[in-house]
Amino acid sequence: MSKQGKLLIISGFSGVGKGTVVNKLIDKYDDYTISISATTRKPRVGEVDKVNYFFVSKEEFEDMIANNKLLEYAQYVDNYYGTPLEFVNEKLNEGINVILEIETQGALKVKEIMPEAMMIFILPPSAEELKKRLVGRNTESMEVINKRLMKAAEETIFMDNYEYFVVNDEIEGCVEKINLVVNNDTTGTASK
Ligand code: 5GP
Repeated sequence: MSKQGKLLIISGFSGVGKGTVVNKLIDKYDDYTISISATTRKPRVGEVDKVNYFFVSKEEFEDMIANNKLLEYAQYVDNYYGTPLEFVNEKLNEGINVILEIETQGALKVKEIMPEAMMIFILPPSAEELKKRLVGRNTESMEVINKRLMKAAEETIFMDNYEYFVVNDEIEGCVEKINLVVNNDTTGTASK
């Protein structure tokens, strides 16, 4: 009997620091991996194809949809984002916990297909701090920042679907809280 990994859906408003938290979690513990998403968004400075995302054209993305290569996909502020299916299944079967760092609509689709998935929402310490982080990272224009802040307000509607809420006031602490939640959760304990 080999143990299945847990599927972890991690969401949070743009700028909350999800990426940093998830990367730390993976660095620190061997039994976590992240699913690399496909997106039609252009890479930010420092982002690498096949490391941060599979950066694809709209046509390539639509081909992936047509060929059932995606577990879920959604549109977020003018771009497509989606989760390649094969990698997720492969890693779960190897007993590795797979993190999907995705927005709220995709999260709900995954939960419908795979109800054993754990839904975790990362919160900023305050709305003011969120805006400060989003502006401070200096990766988007003010126009895109405002769209992302409006998207954050929209996403609050979906928050009550989440099972766990973790505040990212300090990265190390947030990583530890997530690891604790995952190891004490009983929803995804199926073995085969
Ligand atoms: P960003 O452009 O900041 O990298 O990502 C924008 C939003 O898309 C974030 O909320 C991120 O979690 C979400 N996202 C990234 N990959 C996926 C994916 O594969 N599916 C869905 N539904 N959302 C994603």
